[in-house]
Amino acid sequence: MDALVKNKFEFNNNVLNFSNKSFYYLESFSAMKIDALNKYDAIILDARDVEFARIILKKFRSSSNVEFYLKPIFLINAKANEDPLLKELIDGIIVSFDQIPETINDINQISIKIAQLESSTSNSFEVQLFKKVLNFMFTRETNTFTPYPDILSSIGYCYPTISVNFETFEEAKVLELLEWAEKENLIWPDFLDRVYLCSNCKNGHLSYREICPNCDSANMRSEDLVHHFPCGYIGAISDFKNNVDTVLNCPKCTKNLRHIGVDYDKPSIINHCQNCNEVFQDYLVKAKCAHCKTDTDVQFLLSKNINVYKLTKKGRTAAVGGISASDFSLSNEVFGTVNLKTFATMMHYEQERIKNNPALNANVVIIYIENIFDLYRKIGKSKERELLAEFVNIVRDNITPADFICINNPSVLSVCINDTPLQNAQIMVMKITDKLEELVYNNFDRFALNVFTQTVELSKEQSFDKQLHVLIKEIVEKG
Ligand SMILES: [Zn+2]
Ligand SMILES: [Zn+2]
Ligand SMILES: [Zn+2]
Repeated sequence: MDALVKNKFEFNNNVLNFSNKSFYYLESFSAMKIDALNKYDAIILDARDVEFARIILKKFRSSSNVEFYLKPIFLINAKANEDPLLKELIDGIIVSFDQIPETINDINQISIKIAQLESSTSNSFEVQLFKKVLNFMFTRETNTFTPYPDILSSIGYCYPTISVNFETFEEAKVLELLEWAEKENLIWPDFLDRVYLCSNCKNGHLSYREICPNCDSANMRSEDLVHHFPCGYIGAISDFKNNVDTVLNCPKCTKNLRHIGVDYDKPSIINHCQNCNEVFQDYLVKAKCAHCKTDTDVQFLLSKNINVYKLTKKGRTAAVGGISASDFSLSNEVFGTVNLKTFATMMHYEQERIKNNPALNANVVIIYIENIFDLYRKIGKSKERELLAEFVNIVRDNITPADFICINNPSVLSVCINDTPLQNAQIMVMKITDKLEELVYNNFDRFALNVFTQTVELSKEQSFDKQLHVLIKEIVEKG
């Protein structure tokens, strides 16, 4: 440990317990993977290595797991720096470990707020991600999305709480999410600036050039056009120049030009293309994208407003009340599944069936895919239906024809397995889990799907709706 920060608050193997809270001190040479850090109440992140601090902060805040993305994180050894991520996504800066007692109140406040959050599964990528952002804002008591100029961002601006969830080259997706949230009436905009993006790939790193309308070359020379009043001659200023002095002579009448506005003027400019020799007055302006190399006439660039957004009342209450967006409707479209309403009805009859005959049983299975939206973000939402159909096939192959499947939403499948001992059902579900993970790993660039399952006997006393609600709540919170 560095002498700079050594004092009575000693960290032992990077861990310190103080006032019933555990702290983990993370410095740039700690080999620790952050996966093991969720058990600590707070992280003290050493920011001497700014790049390291940025990577760690991004890992925590971009996680889909509430234990990570809401973790209290304090910087130590932070130099003054303008990185918007490091400014907006931390819970404070301490100058020495002596100030650890001062963090306790913040940690407690955050934990009180976390306990109030609504947790449920989401109907769409937008709902899932925006709810996550709202959770962060609620626990940190902020209600404004401020854009920061950011050279690392592909659009030149970042909104730290949202941008941290995307790669810097995908920053345009942040604007799309904000547009969605505005339409859902969760936020309201206040105009700040406008950016222009490549119409092909939505990148903002554009190189603007004046180019020849004939051959598109930027290799052109502009010069003033001169109008000599006495003789009426109009020509490029170079025709009036000589190699000896700075006096301008008319090439037609050979007189000296004396005073601009009196005997001559410069009515406009003239452009000469060095590539194709074309002479013209109006050039075109094109913008070449540094990312995809598309060269676009500026009038066809995508123009986007950069707004400061504030949460609306609906937005402010959504962290604890949930976001109610339109219902998920894919269920009806995926072959071999029933929708939630039908599933609940069938489970009700199932309950009646097993109540009257002790030889019969039924098991309820919840399959929760925690990071499914991270996958859609990578592969595109258009693959959602296709992939769900594949998932359903895998489930179907590993249960009996009399069992039934419901897609609650893109991250939750419910299954009823009939007349099978609970232990056997659990083994079937383990197999399904392995196959789902394998499918995604092999087909989508080794993406590691986080699948959590619950397999229990269908309750004979509790209503099915209640049982399902509790099961999903448990699995999501545990997740
Ligand atoms: Zn003249
Ligand atoms: Zn040209
Ligand atoms: Zn582009």
